[in-house]
Amino acid sequence: MIGILGGGLAGLVLASRRKDAEVLEAEDRPGGLCRSLAADGFTFDPHGSHILFSRKPEAMRFYEDLLGDNVCRRQRNTKVYYKGRYVKYPFENGLADLPIEDNVACLMGYIEAHLARSTGRSPTPKNFKEWMYHRFGKGITEAYLLPYNEKIWKTPADQMAIDWVEGRVPDPPLEDVVRASLGVPTEGYTHQLHFLYPREGGIESLVRGLLPQVGRIRTAFRVTSIRKRGGAWIVSDGREELQYDRLVSTIPIPELIRALPDAPKDVRAAGESLTHRALVTVMLGLDRDAVNDLSWAYFPSPEDGWFNRISFPSNFSDRVAPAGNSSAVAEMTCDPGDAVWSSADEALVDHVVAHADRMGIFRGSEVRVSRVARTRYAYVVFDLAHRRNLDLVQAYAQRIGIELLGRFGQFDYINTDQVILRGLSLADALEAVA
Ligand SMILES: Cc1cc2nc3c(=O)[nH]c(=O)nc-3n(C[C@H](O)[C@H](O)[C@H](O)COP(=O)(O)OP(=O)(O)OC[C@H]3O[C@@H](n4cnc5c(N)ncnc54)[C@H](O)[C@@H]3O)c2cc1C
Repeated sequence: MIGILGGGLAGLVLASRRKDAEVLEAEDRPGGLCRSLAADGFTFDPHGSHILFSRKPEAMRFYEDLLGDNVCRRQRNTKVYYKGRYVKYPFENGLADLPIEDNVACLMGYIEAHLARSTGRSPTPKNFKEWMYHRFGKGITEAYLLPYNEKIWKTPADQMAIDWVEGRVPDPPLEDVVRASLGVPTEGYTHQLHFLYPREGGIESLVRGLLPQVGRIRTAFRVTSIRKRGGAWIVSDGREELQYDRLVSTIPIPELIRALPDAPKDVRAAGESLTHRALVTVMLGLDRDAVNDLSWAYFPSPEDGWFNRISFPSNFSDRVAPAGNSSAVAEMTCDPGDAVWSSADEALVDHVVAHADRMGIFRGSEVRVSRVARTRYAYVVFDLAHRRNLDLVQAYAQRIGIELLGRFGQFDYINTDQVILRGLSLADALEAVA
């Protein structure tokens, strides 16, 4: 029997392919980050606004098979809020929306960076901040990339590595940026341009589609200790002991290492040093027909609020809000215990509503429903020690024979598509050695 620690998407995908597995989930409902919340006729995704997209056709097929008819197909319409106006996303594809002087500065910076790279004058970047200047130039970096990234990661960009940016930060050709600056429409980050979203039930519908294929799940079982006895793994929540032949962990690495009493000191230290950010979401149901036609908007400037993004889920599906109503979800990254995390729910709602009202997004008087959620593990931070810490932990897990899987199970910046593909591939690999 295989014990799968954690019943988020990763654990469930794997369990759906392995009939000899049991999932152990700490919460009273599986789904992890892909759970949704029903509130007075609205459906919200409390662990951050989710959409479904992928470069990989296998992942798109997986989503479509799970959702069946319960699906909406949408084209992204996303903006960056900059100096009181909306700039098309990705920012470098929206330069014509900027004040003209900023447009020129961003374009010139982009061209200069391009020339410096192509003539070998630009040294290889050693951290994320250097990478931004190297790849995008001064204008775009200082107007958007730097403030936005420091707002979301809560980490100075020169303290971040660059091994994660490939595929996560748009990387447009020069010609597109010149066209965009002149006002010729161009699209960037195109594998995300079209996306799916469940018509009913929020992102949790994905998990609901999977559950009938999953055999054994124990909920309300928080793994606190893992030991080897003879050839077997003994897993406990402090009340009950369960026995497995093999283990796959999708729970956050720090939690896993804390549960392993024999983990050496350096592995323990590495597990604790893996950096991540938490998330607070403020979810609002609005007594108003469509707020706008945006999928979501980014807010790089600290002056525009604590949130880095506001999404408009009722533009993903008209079934997630009652007829004639709409919804908005603001996301703020933070650390457990800091000022944002510890603020009272009402203060967080007031903060978002006051800023949204001031920016003309919606009026405070239109708010009919509000909810606040706190998510301890939301974003992996690729600080400069990330690779070294992760290598140490991975080597230890391999040595003792625990497979790692999932966003925080592998401490990698992966979306549902990669979680699904890695889950399927691990199911095959386990089959091969069974
Ligand atoms: C803000 C935000 C926005 C996102 N947007 C998108 C998007 O638009 N599109 C997309 O595809 N992906 C998106 N993602 C990523 C997506 O949510 C994840 O990739 C995916 O849900 C991760 O699944 P997982 O199973 O690896 O992890 P999780 O969902 O975190 O599951 C881990 C599970 O382990 C359980 N657990 C933890 N500790 C223990 C323990 N000690 N014992 C037992 N169980 C335990 C948890 O309760 C949880 O259920 C987003 C994520 C965030 C945070």
